[in-house]
Amino acid sequence: MQVTCPNCGARYAVDPLQIGPTGRTVQCARCSHRWHQQAAPPAAVAPQPRPVPDFVIRPPTYNSGLPALATPPTKSQWGQWLSIGGLAVVVLAIAAYAFRSEILAVLPSEWRDALHIDALRGLFRQ
Ligand SMILES: [Zn+2]
Repeated sequence: MQVTCPNCGARYAVDPLQIGPTGRTVQCARCSHRWHQQAAPPAAVAPQPRPVPDFVIRPPTYNSGLPALATPPTKSQWGQWLSIGGLAVVVLAIAAYAFRSEILAVLPSEWRDALHIDALRGLFRQ
């Protein structure tokens, strides 16, 4: 703390612990004046300034020169499954036509009536 002599105005830098909490009688070294120096009022505790970061990370803005993180578009796979199913139907139809006599020999007679195979056979023989 700074102590100023009320007589001559001399200024002294004094440790506040030397003055104490209740004050102390001091003497000026220049003019030998004595006075009771009150303790320094407790300094207001100033909030410490927050440390400023060296840099701030901000989210990239549009067209900032950074590569964009592109997410691949979710491609619908319905077309792929439809083509696979259509191909399977075609393969089964060709196999059924190629092995029609073997299939008819294995099928029970009730199935022949239910599937109208005889009617279909007559249709194709025209
Ligand atoms: Zn003095």
